[in-house]
Amino acid sequence: MSADEKTNKNLYVEDGDEGDENEGRVPPFQTPKGVHDILPHDHEYYTYIKKIVRHRCRQAGFKRISTPIFEYTEVFKRTVGEATDIVTKEMYTFEDRKGRSLTLKPEGTAPVCRAYVQHGMHNLPQPVELYYIEPFFRYERPQAGRYRQFWQFGFELIGETDSALDAQVILLAYRIYQDLGIADGLKLQINNIGDLESRKVYAEALRDYYYGKERYLSDEDKARLQKNPLRILDSKHEDTMILNQSAPKFKDFISKESKEYHEEVLMFLRDLKIPYVENDNLVRGLDYYNQTVFEFYDEKKGGQNSVGGGGRFDGLIELLGGQPTPAIGFGMGLERVIAQMKRNKVRVPSKDDLHVFIAQLGKEAKRLSIPLIDKLREKGIKAMGALGKPAIKNQLKIADRFKVPYCVLIGETEVREGKAIIRDMSVGTQTTVAFDKVVPEIIKRIGEKNLDFYNPSEPV
Ligand code: ATP
Ligand code: MG
Repeated sequence: MSADEKTNKNLYVEDGDEGDENEGRVPPFQTPKGVHDILPHDHEYYTYIKKIVRHRCRQAGFKRISTPIFEYTEVFKRTVGEATDIVTKEMYTFEDRKGRSLTLKPEGTAPVCRAYVQHGMHNLPQPVELYYIEPFFRYERPQAGRYRQFWQFGFELIGETDSALDAQVILLAYRIYQDLGIADGLKLQINNIGDLESRKVYAEALRDYYYGKERYLSDEDKARLQKNPLRILDSKHEDTMILNQSAPKFKDFISKESKEYHEEVLMFLRDLKIPYVENDNLVRGLDYYNQTVFEFYDEKKGGQNSVGGGGRFDGLIELLGGQPTPAIGFGMGLERVIAQMKRNKVRVPSKDDLHVFIAQLGKEAKRLSIPLIDKLREKGIKAMGALGKPAIKNQLKIADRFKVPYCVLIGETEVREGKAIIRDMSVGTQTTVAFDKVVPEIIKRIGEKNLDFYNPSEPV
């Protein structure tokens, strides 16, 4: 574990390891199993990622959407698929007081498509391009990179179909990974899983293949053999995974059109110089996909190695009561992205660092400090004072821990003489200035360009 990971224990430890900051004393209340607080240091990563994805989405014409934290259970059951991990065992489902079945959203695509239908977005110019950054909930076995609440960034391009769009969606994802500084460690895997008709024929071929080999399958995979054998290809069970390698391949069952479509997507990827590998067994964990499916893997990691993925889902909007509408999308898990960024030692610049700390002694000094702090902030200086702490020495210690470049000291002498001391914390030198010169002097030292102003006339 790197030093950085150590300081961020809360996010990246195996479940159950937390709490030793309290030296054996277990606080009476802990976060529930599998979920985590995002402490300020980690929030810098979330903010950074949000900035990058927003910028890339804006460039490509995507607009942000947020759907509720919970939906009617049917929204997921009908779309994600009855035989998938998500629906069979990972959903947080509960009844409300009127007995309606609700589910904390385990994924983002079905809710966005529900919203597309509900708000008549087919009347808008197509394609409709939407993105989201939201928490999702899955009742999984918690381990590093696998949590019960996790964040995803995702985007959907709805209302048009063409192999060029598939390539564009992959390009957008790829550029985002590049901007985040993690593209090099990821491998793009891609497959084409054809249309509904060819999938039915393929499913039969898979059944024939697995019949007689049931003893190598996990109970879960045995059940899938009846319900939806394609799901077996997504199994995380070791024996099944070995068996899967010799299973019939999708590419021998998809139509000529699908094959051509796939070849076009690959051609565009080559034109764009996006490295990829084809993976015949890639089906992804949700039933609603067709044609192109893809996933970005971290090859060095074990089980939790998917850092993001997506695919085409041309039948989904119809399943939710809309007109047949083609669509394609992508989603990535922020916790896994952050872990990857930390491994790659990606620096995340933060604007949160304070400029100045005000230390004061005595009632009159405190009276002067409060308007001084206000004035500094009004001029774009990030300022804070320990107004409750009496001893100047202790206040300076706190200032030191905040790593501020400057401290303003106001003691009884300074009050009497109408002055203040400015201390340069990096070298320890002190200068006495007239009280009304404190603000301009600090601005001079910080530099105009580093001031922190909110500009309300700037477009959001
Ligand atoms: P996996 O195969 O690892 O279970 P998945 O196929 O279930 O992933 P998706 O439903 O495609 O994942 O979700 C998109 C992304 O969200 C994944 O690539 C991963 O980065 C992230 N993700 C999925 N489940 C979790 C989880 N429980 N905790 C943290 N991140 C997750
Ligand atoms: Mg999963």
